[in-house]
Amino acid sequence: MQLHSSLSLLLVLSVLGTPAWSQDARVRLRLLQTTDLHTSALNYDYYRDAVDDTLGLSKVATLIRQARAEARNHLLIDTGDLLQGNPLGDYIARVKGLREGQVHAMHTAMNLLAYDAAVVGNHEFNFGLPFLDTALKGAKFPSLAANVYLPDGKTHRFTPYVILERRVTDEAGREHVLKVGVIGFTPPQIMQWDKGHLEGRVMTKDIVATAEALVPEVRAKGADIVVLAGHTGLGTDQVKSGEMAENAGWALTKVPGVNAVLTGHQHLTFPGQFRDLAGADPEKGTVNGVAVSMPGFWGSHLGVLDLDLVRNDKGWSVAQSTAAIRPIYRFDQNRRRVPTVDNAPDIVAAVTPIHEETLRYIRAPFGKLAAPIYSYFALVQDDPAIQIVSEAQLWYAKRALQGTPHAALPVLSAAAPFKAGGRGGAEYYTDVPQGDIAIKNASDLYLYPNTVQMVKVNGAGVQEWLEMSAGQFKQVDPSRTEPQDVVENSFPTFNFDVIDGVTYEIDVTQPRRYDNDGKLVNPNARRIKGLSFQGKPIDPQQEFVVVTNNYRASGGGRFPGLDGKNVILQSPDENRQALIDYITEMKTVNPSADKNWKFARVGKPVTLQFESSPRAEALLGVNPALSKLGDGQNGFVRYGLKLD
Ligand code: MN
Ligand code: MG
Repeated sequence: MQLHSSLSLLLVLSVLGTPAWSQDARVRLRLLQTTDLHTSALNYDYYRDAVDDTLGLSKVATLIRQARAEARNHLLIDTGDLLQGNPLGDYIARVKGLREGQVHAMHTAMNLLAYDAAVVGNHEFNFGLPFLDTALKGAKFPSLAANVYLPDGKTHRFTPYVILERRVTDEAGREHVLKVGVIGFTPPQIMQWDKGHLEGRVMTKDIVATAEALVPEVRAKGADIVVLAGHTGLGTDQVKSGEMAENAGWALTKVPGVNAVLTGHQHLTFPGQFRDLAGADPEKGTVNGVAVSMPGFWGSHLGVLDLDLVRNDKGWSVAQSTAAIRPIYRFDQNRRRVPTVDNAPDIVAAVTPIHEETLRYIRAPFGKLAAPIYSYFALVQDDPAIQIVSEAQLWYAKRALQGTPHAALPVLSAAAPFKAGGRGGAEYYTDVPQGDIAIKNASDLYLYPNTVQMVKVNGAGVQEWLEMSAGQFKQVDPSRTEPQDVVENSFPTFNFDVIDGVTYEIDVTQPRRYDNDGKLVNPNARRIKGLSFQGKPIDPQQEFVVVTNNYRASGGGRFPGLDGKNVILQSPDENRQALIDYITEMKTVNPSADKNWKFARVGKPVTLQFESSPRAEALLGVNPALSKLGDGQNGFVRYGLKLD
């Protein structure tokens, strides 16, 4: 006679004595979660060609093994954005290719760690469905996406859920068979973000509505508990079923019959962030009483959810649960990052061959610069380091806006100098020579892993945006002839947005209109003069799309009128990736600044003094108004820009 393994176990237990199902039992089940690994197999930053101990599955692997050793019963789940996100992923998908039967490096590592399930994230679709299908075959665990269907709207395109049947040991040392339902979700917005790959091939449905439909189905099929594993953020308490929310985690905690919610996508942490979210208990790691985790991104953290399960005659239920996240690094007293774990040697060994191929790829030229890119004068004149970012953003925006209601609006671009001396020191500048450019230079061109966003503002809004930027400067007295410091060092240079697509002058004899926090301090002052679009004074009523990054669009820097409410497009793509793709497609780019802004003349000979690197001296010839004034402090050199 053939018996199913779980049935034979129950049979054995009942033969041995009191039937197990009639006894109360307590089982502690630990769920471990990674998310948004973005092909960070190792602790390596390919954009800088350097080790980086703030990321890497090789590091989290050590935490996974530690957390398993502490617990009798555990499951390991990844919630997606696994196969794209750094040059290792690009190299596999776009250069080397993945043939049928080959295993993707991320799956090689995850198979060694014996993951129980994974979720298909939005970035999994970036290289098209054939690549994804080939890759997923190499995983020794199911990859789930319950809300992605064939165009018929009925047939699941991926495995929607899995019921993991696991032998668990209770607190008294007795074995039980526990059936854990895991349902996976991906943002329905993949249909816009990867339209070219997905249109006509798949369709998506609402995450919350899908969960509401499937939880009873999974329960009816025998699941004792149900875990919702979302490549979706926590979002807000305003999210309702059926509205196709991108970040539906909060609403998932309200779905009847749910025992734990795994979230991601936002690259944030819970517990940790989301302290003001309704129903969130940051100490217990619960939202509306349900254990929730969001373990950062790129392997920065491991999610650890502990569920205390009790069984009575009605079956299993969760008596109480907690969630925590464990970091792979911490900050010391000097705010330096210190690793808390070592790499797992077997993971390192398994991915070293592809890592070494990736190193050759990032060190080889992928495009050419027809002129050098440097940021030495970024605070006193239009600058090539900003210009190239804006040109890539405009190139990206034209495609991304196609077929949207905003496609007809004129597009402007905002970008700021990220590396421009200051507290970073006299060497902290962008300096990429003319000629071949390699991916390992990318962090010089775009330092932060921001993502592209677009906002809708009118001409008056563009003026206020630039007035805020102009807070970068001290007020200058036109009657003084000795050099005057012009840079306000308390204003971070990453808030000095230059807007390309319009022309304007900045009058530094006027007081600043806004302070560093965006407070209107001089309502009658205006520093932005002659703001023009297509050669004519800008119409305050005319609407524009401005392409920028997620930081600015969501209110970073407290710019007037930028609070997240006028965002019209939130791309999952990094500005840095857009820049790399732009250079790749153009093959050769000329990053020379178009000089769309300058300081307004003051009618008297005034010298604006600023600090820059000693290396700027060799470039003074780019503008006859520039000169060296003398040595500054901390290795800086003082330069002057003459106005008349
Ligand atoms: Mn992600
Ligand atoms: Mg420009």
